[in-house]
Amino acid sequence: MRPNLFRMEFFMAILMFFLVFQLSRQAAVIVSAQAAGRTSAASSGRADADPYFGIAADRKPVVVLDSGHGGFDPGKIAVDGSLEKDINLRIAQRVKQYLEASDVEVVMTRDSDTALCGESDSNKKTADMRNRCRLINDASPDLVVSIHQNSYHEESVKGAQVFYYKSSENGRRLAEILQKRFDYVLGAANTRSAKANDSYYLLLHVKSPIVIVECGFLSNWSEAALLNTEEYQDRTAWTIHMGILEYLNTR
Ligand SMILES: [Zn+2]
Repeated sequence: MRPNLFRMEFFMAILMFFLVFQLSRQAAVIVSAQAAGRTSAASSGRADADPYFGIAADRKPVVVLDSGHGGFDPGKIAVDGSLEKDINLRIAQRVKQYLEASDVEVVMTRDSDTALCGESDSNKKTADMRNRCRLINDASPDLVVSIHQNSYHEESVKGAQVFYYKSSENGRRLAEILQKRFDYVLGAANTRSAKANDSYYLLLHVKSPIVIVECGFLSNWSEAALLNTEEYQDRTAWTIHMGILEYLNTR
């Protein structure tokens, strides 16, 4: 009995060794295949055009969030003295968090209070816009949302408005989705329509579907106050991120 038992144990040990060897080989093949997929996704620079839910994690959609202005360029100055560039960045950072939690890859044109130009640039605004465009086009995103705040000479004017390039069908669709969501969030006070434009620099020069979201009017006291609260920035960011997901999900 004893030698038989020994032989059986020896045989089982060989079998286990073989199984472990095979399993680790298969795991190595899967890992290297995933790494190759990531590399090809990164080198092609954009996610697949298919609706993204249910597809492999290595084909995430790519979204560029552009926080308008920054650094030397404050953007609009609110009635209470707050600056558009700061509000834009805070909202964009929250949209980024929400999108990343939904497995969307996010590229930010800026993630601090800086402009996209050098000290030596003679025309800083032109250099900043040109560099923004280059950064966006290099990322070949599925869509771009440029975040801004509005201003008007009549204090009573308020509400959100979304702009798109006039001949971009996808831009129009994204703008209408976002506008509808803003109108819902803001209630009867906001009954605007998404608006076509053919002169904004970014709309003219960015190749991917792009919208400019003017979240509210800094010339209106109540809206300026709201836009400076964390709660309203969060609500705005949630609205933008839900609109982006709806667009990606209904392509
Ligand atoms: Zn602006």
